Amino acid sequence: MRDVIRRARLLDERYNIFNALADDAGEVGTGRLAGYAVSVKDNICTKGVQTTAGSRILEGYVPPFDATVVSKCRDEGAFILGKTTQDEFGFGTFNVNTAYGIPRNPHDPERSCGGSSGGAACLTAVADFPHAAISESTGGSISCPASFCGVVGVTPTYGRTSRWGLVDYANSLDKIGVMGKTVEEAALLLSVISGPDEYDSTVLRVPPEDFTESLGGSVEGMRIGVPEEYLLEGVEEMVAERVRSAIDGLQSLGAVVSDVSLPHTGVSLASYYIIAMAEASTNLAKFCGLRYGLHMPLEGNFDEYFSRVRARGFSEEAKRRVILGTFTRMAGYRDAYYLKALRVRTRVIKDFKRAFEEVDVLAAPTMPVVAPRFDEIEEMEPIQHYMMDVLTVAPNLAGIPMISVPCGEVGGMPVGLHLMADHLQEGKMIRAAHAYEVGR
Ligand code: GLN
Repeated sequence: MRDVIRRARLLDERYNIFNALADDAGEVGTGRLAGYAVSVKDNICTKGVQTTAGSRILEGYVPPFDATVVSKCRDEGAFILGKTTQDEFGFGTFNVNTAYGIPRNPHDPERSCGGSSGGAACLTAVADFPHAAISESTGGSISCPASFCGVVGVTPTYGRTSRWGLVDYANSLDKIGVMGKTVEEAALLLSVISGPDEYDSTVLRVPPEDFTESLGGSVEGMRIGVPEEYLLEGVEEMVAERVRSAIDGLQSLGAVVSDVSLPHTGVSLASYYIIAMAEASTNLAKFCGLRYGLHMPLEGNFDEYFSRVRARGFSEEAKRRVILGTFTRMAGYRDAYYLKALRVRTRVIKDFKRAFEEVDVLAAPTMPVVAPRFDEIEEMEPIQHYMMDVLTVAPNLAGIPMISVPCGEVGGMPVGLHLMADHLQEGKMIRAAHAYEVGR
């Protein structure tokens, strides 16, 4: 593990992966994760190690406790390697909205790793030691970077994993999940971290599952639906082509492929951003310079003090989301925006439920493009950043599980195949992803 830390430091110098890195190997444990280094996205609390969620306002915050998912890993013998970079509080798609350095894509350093869990995906791709990553998604933050960096990312069913110790972005959407170089590694880590937790009343009361049991199964007869809306507008032709040929691959392994329709796809993006920002704006209220992280000399009245701390501690994107989120919940606008967005969300869920009456798994591109270059990102307006999430927000709104698996390259950059399943049906999508990965 001392050697792992040394290698991780070298990788960090090259790619900008960590906000904090272990300096002591400690004792090697025993259990299902013995010998594994596990990295933790920086919005998940780690005892004695600074946890910033990518924000300046949490600078200096050292949690006195481990998040449940972290202690579960320690109990299984994992070595907690460090905290990976992310967009501030998860606000982003390219991991460029961060106070602590932007991770570089391992396939081309001039390109984004994706966000918000960019550091986790980057490390998963480049680690030259046994490693898996704990990550988190609100609207696509596991799938997107997994796709851009060419690794496997699993977002479980909403409520499958405990969120005790997570710095919340939007509580009705946040899910802790995993990344691995292979489907097997991701399935192993997910099995360890999922399951009930007395500290989180929102965890589903279902018995823990061993997802590694879904490995090695066949897709013979499995019904795979291709949502027609997901291969239309905005998806780069070459990306769509790779994904289509991956789906053909599954068909030749015995899966039964058909087209399905998710008619509310087009309005899911607006619904997502309204709900996510509304919840984020209330969650950020607790960061005021008194309890956590950044403090300044107390001068003036409290309102003045809070304003000064928040002006310095939040980035432009966080401020934008506080303002927009507050606006959509204001008396007079609430019906037109926030409540309408909730009604759209119900329709989106019904779309998926209807589709899963006919198919076992849905297959689509994870992202409409390959990882963009930083100079391209700089040219984009915030709304263009948001639009990149067009294929990942709907399943996140519905709380269904999803997995992104690498399915080839375009111009040397990885493309992701997105497989989605009904609530609590992670096993099916892991089986399909593994069958695709190993080609049988
Ligand atoms: N890009 C989306 C957002 O900015 C999703 C991020 C996430 O899942 N944390 O809200």
